[in-house]
Amino acid sequence: MEITDVYKCSGCNAVTIEGISDEGEQFSNSMKLKAFRENFKGIRIKRTLASCNYCVNHWGVDLCGCGSGQKVGKCKNDYYECQNKIPAQQLFEMKDSTPKFGFEKSLRMCLN
Ligand SMILES: [Zn+2]
Ligand SMILES: [Zn+2]
Repeated sequence: MEITDVYKCSGCNAVTIEGISDEGEQFSNSMKLKAFRENFKGIRIKRTLASCNYCVNHWGVDLCGCGSGQKVGKCKNDYYECQNKIPAQQLFEMKDSTPKFGFEKSLRMCLN
């Protein structure tokens, strides 16, 4: 695994790491600073940005997969992701962004 970028968001204080997995796939994961410190000991934050996927898109390894922006397992919606405690991101995996998924997501946003 290779980490290519690490940045902290000044808006929500989450950290996003970007890199390439052992399988050669690009990934981007966002998480709260505390989780970053626990999971990535010794890795330095390179820069600070004003916003990130965590606060803008509600993508994070500790956020509910339904897109609500609530903690995984604590989300009060009753989508499949909420009930099954599926996070918005898996560590070292790129966010699933197939068109179908994206469409369902935007449809849900409208319904919410
Ligand atoms: Zn942010
Ligand atoms: Zn949810």
